[in-house]
Amino acid sequence: MIKKITDRISAVFTEDGFSSGNCVLVEDTVNLMIDSGAGRALKETRPERINILLNSHHHIDHMGGNDFFPAAVKMAHPLEIEFMQVPEKLSATDAWKELMDQDCILHAREINGRPNRLYQPWHIDEIMQPGQVIECGHTRIRVIHTPGHTAGHCSFHFPEENILFLADICLSKVGPWYGGSDSSVDDFIHSINAVREMKPEMVVTGHYTDILRENIDAILVEYRDRILKREGRILDYLKDTPSTIHELAGKRFIYPDHPNPFVVYWEKSMIMKHLERLMGLGEVTREEGNRFRTTVTASSI
Ligand SMILES: [Zn+2]
Repeated sequence: MIKKITDRISAVFTEDGFSSGNCVLVEDTVNLMIDSGAGRALKETRPERINILLNSHHHIDHMGGNDFFPAAVKMAHPLEIEFMQVPEKLSATDAWKELMDQDCILHAREINGRPNRLYQPWHIDEIMQPGQVIECGHTRIRVIHTPGHTAGHCSFHFPEENILFLADICLSKVGPWYGGSDSSVDDFIHSINAVREMKPEMVVTGHYTDILRENIDAILVEYRDRILKREGRILDYLKDTPSTIHELAGKRFIYPDHPNPFVVYWEKSMIMKHLERLMGLGEVTREEGNRFRTTVTASSI
C-alpha cells in the first residue's frame, strides 16, 4: 500500500509480514526507490519507470525485489555490496553452524525445485557514500551511515521535508536486531543517538506499520533502551548461574517467544553480541566448558 507523505515522497508499506520490508518512493524529475523488499506492494510503484534504487543494507527483506527494477541504477554502501554476495548474510544466518545443532533449511540450494535467489549474484552499479546527496529534481536525499544492525547500514534524510527513512532501526516491537557477524551493539546505540540529534519531523522504517509523526524522540529512546535492558537481564542471570550460550538462549532474554529455529538462532547470536561486549568491558569471562560467568558474583557482593 502506497501512502503519500508529501506530493513527491511516499511510503510503500508491505502487506507481506516480516519477511518483507517497507520502502520509500520518490516521484520527481528522477524517480527513485529506497529498498525493494515490499513484496506484492512493489507493483503499485510501477518499477519499470524507476531511475535510481538505493539499498539500505544487504538483508533479503530489504533488497529481495531488486530484480523488479531493471532500468534503475542500483546503489549501496561498499560494505553492504560485499555482504550481498554471501547467502548466509542475505538471510541473516551467518553464524548458524557455530550456534545451532541442526541444518538451516534456507541453505538448501533449491527451494520447491527452484534455484534459491540467495545463491545468485546480486549486481550493484554504484557505491553510495555516507553524506552523499542524491538529487531527484526538487527532492534531495542525504545518505546517513547508521551502523549497528549491519556494518554498512544506511538511513536516508530528506533535508527540506525533514523526513527520515530508518530502514532496520525499525522501531517495531521485535527490534532492535544485531545478530549478524558485522552487527555491533555499541554502533547501534550510537546510531540511534545520532538519529535523535537530527530531530526528524516524520519517520518511516522498514517494519513499523505507519508514518511516525509524534513522540518520535521518546520512541527512539525506548527502542534504544531495550538494548541495555536485555543486557541487564543477561548479566543479572549470570551473577547467580554461570551458563553456556545455549542455556542462556533458553531463558529468552531477547525474544519471549521462539516460534521457529530462526528466532532461537537470533536469540543466541544477539546474546553472543552482548557477551562479547561484556567480556570487552571486563564484566564477564568465558571459562572451561564454554560457560560464561560474571567477574563479580552475587555471593561476593
Ligand atoms: Zn536488516
